[in-house]
Amino acid sequence: MGKWKVFAVCVLTTLLAATGCKSSTQDSSANADSAPSVARIGDFRGDSAYAHVAAQVAFGPRVPGTPGHDACREYIIGRLRAYGADTVIVQEATVKAYTGDMLPISNIIAQYNRANTRRILLAAHWDTRPWADQDDNAADRDKPIPGANDGASGVGVLLEIARNFAARQPGVGVDLIFFDAEDYGRSGGFYNHNDTWCLGSQHWAETKVPYTSGNLPVYGILLDMVGGRDARFHYEAFAHENAPTPCLKVWSEAKRLGYGDMFINTIGGAIIDDHVILTRAGIPTADIIELNNEVTSSFPPTWHTLDDNLEHIDPHVLDAVGQTVLNVAYNEKTF
Ligand SMILES: [Zn+2]
Repeated sequence: MGKWKVFAVCVLTTLLAATGCKSSTQDSSANADSAPSVARIGDFRGDSAYAHVAAQVAFGPRVPGTPGHDACREYIIGRLRAYGADTVIVQEATVKAYTGDMLPISNIIAQYNRANTRRILLAAHWDTRPWADQDDNAADRDKPIPGANDGASGVGVLLEIARNFAARQPGVGVDLIFFDAEDYGRSGGFYNHNDTWCLGSQHWAETKVPYTSGNLPVYGILLDMVGGRDARFHYEAFAHENAPTPCLKVWSEAKRLGYGDMFINTIGGAIIDDHVILTRAGIPTADIIELNNEVTSSFPPTWHTLDDNLEHIDPHVLDAVGQTVLNVAYNEKTF
């Protein structure tokens, strides 16, 4: 995901303070120590999600226009069909990166319980960054990242959720969207380069396939970098302000499931990611992302480096995130 974090945090923190944001009521609910523990619904398996992560990494970098990208595209489509999606839609396009590169992209959309007009949306990006521009080793900064966490983790969790839906259909309609070309953006430019990121979701927002203006999902949940060891997930500021409903659902469900030490009820920073595009498109979307790491005070140390590999993925973190989102989906009211 993209980074204009430092400057943006200052602006948005000021904004939230000035407007007296909704955090007090949300946080008191999510923090309630008396909240009862709840059962896991379905059968989310962290090791299965991890296997999906490993399969993607084995394809090599998933940079648009490369063989690894082609192979991963077929893998995701194949898994969704095997897991009984009502429909699998592939939105193909060519988009222009800030480098001038023309990128062949595919946004992949799977629908479950298509008959229900009340729907929610779960999303992740499946492409990986072409350059390890945050790597400590300058000689490696023009190499593509493995993208185990940044790319594969969110996809792995969504595919394991899809496997659950094949076994037990959710009552609410659920759409899974796998966005392409999230991570081809220009770094270091703060506000100036926002639109160089999230090219896949920006293209999707032009048509919002398969929706019309009257049947958009009521909210969305984005998963990005959800498998890092010792991960903690804070609220993202834009989502907290503009998508309070899914934020509260996710963080409070995590608390009830016993993951309150992983999902932290404070704002961790402000970033540009696909949830911003979705929210502006009319689907208020939360972002589950590690953005206030204890070591970096930002993204995980492996972010946009060659160390974003399987060694730094923890199946238990995948499990906690996946079970939380699965519980939210299964508990969502159906009409
Ligand atoms: Zn990234």
